[in-house]
Amino acid sequence: MVPVVMPTYARADLAFERGEGAYLFATDGRRYLDFGSGVAVTALGHCHPRLVAALKTQAAQLWHCSNLYRVPGQERVAAKLVENTFADTVFFCNSGAEAMECSIKMARKFHHADGHPERFRVICAEGAFHGRTLATVAAGGQKKHMEGFAPVVEGFDHVPFGNLNALRAAITPETAAICVEPVQGEGGIIPGDPDYLRRLRATADEFGLLLIFDEVQTGMGRTGSLFAHQPLGVVPDIMGVAKGLGGGFPVGACLATEKAAKGMTAGTHGSTFGGNPLAMAVAETVLDVMLDPGFLEGVAARARRLRALVEEACGRFPDLIEQVRGTGLMLGIKPRIPNTDLIGRLAANGLLTVGAGDNVVRLLPPLIIGDQEMDEAVRILSRTLGEVAL
Ligand SMILES: *Cc1c(COP(=O)(O)O)cnc(C)c1O
Repeated sequence: MVPVVMPTYARADLAFERGEGAYLFATDGRRYLDFGSGVAVTALGHCHPRLVAALKTQAAQLWHCSNLYRVPGQERVAAKLVENTFADTVFFCNSGAEAMECSIKMARKFHHADGHPERFRVICAEGAFHGRTLATVAAGGQKKHMEGFAPVVEGFDHVPFGNLNALRAAITPETAAICVEPVQGEGGIIPGDPDYLRRLRATADEFGLLLIFDEVQTGMGRTGSLFAHQPLGVVPDIMGVAKGLGGGFPVGACLATEKAAKGMTAGTHGSTFGGNPLAMAVAETVLDVMLDPGFLEGVAARARRLRALVEEACGRFPDLIEQVRGTGLMLGIKPRIPNTDLIGRLAANGLLTVGAGDNVVRLLPPLIIGDQEMDEAVRILSRTLGEVAL
């Protein structure tokens, strides 16, 4: 008989009843160090006091009113995002896939409004992940995500990530946009070369294309800056954000320049729940915490420390670990055993991590991770590698 919860996930047999900072407490009484953060979502750890307070206060005032009316929380969050990014305007939704749907729709609409409805194709990268809706699985281009869901949404071309010549060769008169993750997340923690990302901007400008960055996973402090592209000297026209934005409350956003969003007029796009007062109260507080002076610098410093510790620990097991890579608090360990094996053993020893493509184990600790917690995680990692090596 089918489980009452549709079995679309390969779940570990663990359930949690409480979270506090970097720790999760399971129903079996065990405590786990959470280096998965619900896949880069609980960026400020579990039950951050300021987020709990913001949500409780809003919950006693107003939950939902719809986008038939002004939502002051949206105006505040959008203003903060605009003030701190390339963007001029923001659309709110509830997930990363929706943020990317909006990005793709906006790119098509831009060229349509520009008198070029024939320009609708988006060039994406091999190994990409943009979500699980029909359009975003087509954008991701992974066979395993499209299998059985034909016909595939039309209009996505794929080129190897990091290969500018291949990308330029894929541009046709029908191309509307280029869409990449600055660091491929689900694909296996593959950082885009800064020079490649900068050249994407120049290429987009040369051919009149829009540049879309999917910062659903890399954004909101994960790489040590508010958004991963910001220290690289490159700006997109459109950007999808979600995961860390709500710190665990479901919320997404699509940011754009005024020019890129010129076709997005009243009635062109919408979402019933998008940017509702609860989501906005939490997102505003997440942004306030991350924009507190010194917070992001602290993330970068913690990331350097963790990277050094993880490299040192893994370096002692060259037969077991092929590579450590990533940026900021988005690290990938590539073992020579199946990543699922290592993830299972780490969890058994009290450390939660997340798998990714290319047989990678992702470390995505909360951005507030403390030195002692890092040390504990690395001790568990070392012990686990030692057990495997036996
Ligand atoms: C997780 C993710 C998405 C999809 O987000 P959902 O909230 O699961 O829809 C899209 N793009 C990237 C880069 C992601 O990591």
